[in-house]
Amino acid sequence: MTRVTRREILKAAGATAVAAPWAMGNARSCGSDNSRHVAVIGAGAFGGWTALHLARRKIRVTLFDAWGPGNSRASSGGESRVIRGIYGADEIYTRLVHESYPLWRALEKHCDEPLLKMQGLLWMFSIDDAYVQKALPILAKYGMAIDCIEPSDARKRYPQIDFSGIHKAYFEHQAGSLKARRACQIVCRQVQKEGGAYVEQGGRTGSMNGGRLGDVILSDGSKFTADVYVFACGPWLAQLFPDLLGNKISPTRQEVFYFGTPPHDRAFDDGQLPIWVDFGERLIYGIPGSDGRGFKVADDTRGSRFDPTNGDRTPSVEGIERARAFLGRRFPRLANAPLLEARVCQYENSTDGHLILDRHPAMENVWLVGGGSGHGFKLSPALGQLASRQILGESDLEPRFSIKRLNSAKQATQFERQR
Ligand SMILES: Cc1cc2nc3c(=O)[nH]c(=O)nc-3n(C[C@H](O)[C@H](O)[C@H](O)COP(=O)(O)OP(=O)(O)OC[C@H]3O[C@@H](n4cnc5c(N)ncnc54)[C@H](O)[C@@H]3O)c2cc1C
Repeated sequence: MTRVTRREILKAAGATAVAAPWAMGNARSCGSDNSRHVAVIGAGAFGGWTALHLARRKIRVTLFDAWGPGNSRASSGGESRVIRGIYGADEIYTRLVHESYPLWRALEKHCDEPLLKMQGLLWMFSIDDAYVQKALPILAKYGMAIDCIEPSDARKRYPQIDFSGIHKAYFEHQAGSLKARRACQIVCRQVQKEGGAYVEQGGRTGSMNGGRLGDVILSDGSKFTADVYVFACGPWLAQLFPDLLGNKISPTRQEVFYFGTPPHDRAFDDGQLPIWVDFGERLIYGIPGSDGRGFKVADDTRGSRFDPTNGDRTPSVEGIERARAFLGRRFPRLANAPLLEARVCQYENSTDGHLILDRHPAMENVWLVGGGSGHGFKLSPALGQLASRQILGESDLEPRFSIKRLNSAKQATQFERQR
């Protein structure tokens, strides 16, 4: 990762403060324009991909992060993320996932490193399976294959799983896992390779100039000026824009555990077992293998409110006990599996669990990208592309991702959130 000197930052900041027509959103297209400068604050999955798409359009872009892409505080940190196309009736997300696959694959080619492993996903339902049922016509539209498996067949296929209480199972073929932290680092590196700059500093809004943001104040106290500012600060968006998002994005504490599989039992390795989701009163999911880290188990139930900067990331005893009890029930041969690693991360939940991609209502040259709500990583390549198009005035705003809809959005229930 290249660090940029103060002198280079100031040189890069030579952008004019004159209003750029495309930044106002009243021009349909500006084409490529290297005289305009976009500052993207936050190099997680959303900010990184937004910056990369802008750089590919030959827009001058500077990407900032307070602690580095995929750092341990970020929602994009950690080892792995699930990618899958099933999103209930929410076609918009299946489409974004569908568009993201080739972008992930192209990134792998650029960096010559595998980031995406297609393992398939086993869905196990002990409650109503409407979530998958509603997705079936959408999956068919996007050519994503799914098999319905009777529990009796599932038992034969996966003898390492105890299917007690499961009345329906599905195997989603086009699903897998992504390297999370590594992908963020690679996207950031790619931004620089494709003409952008990266600066490891925090940024917050600075002076206002007639309804436009004039500059951002960096953590070293200096000011950085660009034409357009994109804030993609995940769970920190609520603190950075307290009046607008303070009660619309709530970070919650989430725990992830990696258990050790028995030394001579390969049945829990990837290749032997797909990614799995246990869809019951709680939603618990896991990724076998996890790049040597162990058998990953996580509970999607929203935890308590969490401060992403100073929150205590010590895993809880209750969380470990709950994960262990679950393992003993669903994967009996792992009942006594040793805990190898654990980490505490946070979801950045929007009120209704949908993403946020919109212009700031009071700052016309400021865009906000966030609200990943525990499901955004997989589709970040396509979301970044959509963000770049909207910033360039080439694409209409998506009403479901607007900030305005959050004013009347109902608090999502646990299951509505499981998008
Ligand atoms: C435990 C867990 C499991 C998940 N599982 C999945 C999954 O299986 N599949 C999936 O698709 N999604 C999953 N998600 C959700 C997904 O990871 C997030 O939605 C996504 O990573 C959000 O990315 P982001 O860029 O918005 O936020 P972040 O990754 O948090 O990025 C924000 C960045 O901004 C930086 N920053 C903050 N403030 C400032 C500032 N003032 N100035 C400069 N930089 C700043 C931070 O350092 C950070 O790097 C999971 C999330 C968690 C926590």
